[in-house]
Amino acid sequence: MKLERSQELFQEAQRYLPGGVDSPVRAFKAVGGTPPFIVKGQGSRIYDADGNEYVDYVCSWGPLILGHAHPQVVEAVKRAIERGTSFGAPTELEITLARIISSAIPSVEMIRFVSSGTEATMSALRLARAFTGRDKIVKFAGGYHGHADGLLVKGGSGLATLSLPDSPGVPSSYAQNTLVAPYNNADAVAQLFQRYPGEIAAVIVEPVAANMGVVPPQPDFLGSLRSLTGQFDALLIFDEVISGFRVTYGGAQNLFKITPDLTCLGKVIGGGLPVGAYGGRREIMEMMAPIGPVYQAGTLSGNPLAMTAGIETLKILSQPGAYQRLEDAANRLEEGIVKALSSLKLNLTVSRFASLLTIFFTDNQPVDYQSAAQADTKLFARFFQQLLAEGIYWPPSQFEAAFVSLAHSDADIESTISAIGKAFDSL
Ligand code: PMP
Repeated sequence: MKLERSQELFQEAQRYLPGGVDSPVRAFKAVGGTPPFIVKGQGSRIYDADGNEYVDYVCSWGPLILGHAHPQVVEAVKRAIERGTSFGAPTELEITLARIISSAIPSVEMIRFVSSGTEATMSALRLARAFTGRDKIVKFAGGYHGHADGLLVKGGSGLATLSLPDSPGVPSSYAQNTLVAPYNNADAVAQLFQRYPGEIAAVIVEPVAANMGVVPPQPDFLGSLRSLTGQFDALLIFDEVISGFRVTYGGAQNLFKITPDLTCLGKVIGGGLPVGAYGGRREIMEMMAPIGPVYQAGTLSGNPLAMTAGIETLKILSQPGAYQRLEDAANRLEEGIVKALSSLKLNLTVSRFASLLTIFFTDNQPVDYQSAAQADTKLFARFFQQLLAEGIYWPPSQFEAAFVSLAHSDADIESTISAIGKAFDSL
């Protein structure tokens, strides 16, 4: 595979952008080699500056559940852009998207749109602290909730990929208010509540962890978090930035039948444009300015292009059979990988939840960050490079999910399985 132009661009990019990128995992540091510079995406495919074509399982890290440049989304955004790109004034589009989300996720009685998942979680925590009058929060090791200061503690995603569990630049006074428990361990959370009585404002959790690789919740975990937070008058915040409108229409809370107090969203609800959102119980959300005292604002919040892309995406997802099609494609992929593994002596584990999938280079299904971190990341890197050379763009990190989209055809899945089989053989 030729990557000459991408190599030139990567050199040039590094002169101006730290590491040549605007988000760390894109630089391929954990897997080595040159990241292809992408010029175009269409359906399940992306194309790089050297003309290579890849079946894409990153899908912009989740938003592109319909695949790249879906014609209905593109058409709607084109029509919207002709009417102006941003007003900094209210539009009906915000009501439309809010109504769609609120009817899909009944716990979201009111919502505030922002421009990224980071802003959503950061603001939801501010609100939770204001509502409870408490400062501490509980997060889980390997959980990633964006890069707000207090959340960069034992983080997943790029922090796990680069082995930087915490970040310099976060004041220790700030990090002290972040308590960390192992994922899938409600007892540890109970202990924190006992140790810090009356101090914990909220527990924030990815209901399906996907930033240490895909780690589904064990049967009682989320229910226990719901009862513990209730018992100790703290809020339960579901960070559904990945799982929202991904694991089902609505979010993981619909599947597990657990009602959080606040929900963070992003990715899919913006259809590939920059969007985040947080919402929840009316009495809590009414603490937000301008009706309440908690401040949060944004120049491009509720941006009309982003609202339009989100509305079109959710319209398509609401059609009967959409999630069954996603499930079928992801299931076929999983079965193909498991079959390819059965004849080999590799100790790997396929972890899938709906259309999120991770091949863990370890022989037990991880249940938390500690077990996920046992994975052989060097072997993963070799696997990744083999797949890339076969035209499969897999997430360049052991600790991320591969995203299956509605654009992945049977033929795409078949060719992916065969490339994965070849990559396994070469290991
Ligand atoms: N929460 C979760 C669960 C995420 O996966 C991410 C990003 N991958 C974020 C929050 C932060 O979102 P953003 O990158 O849009 O700031």
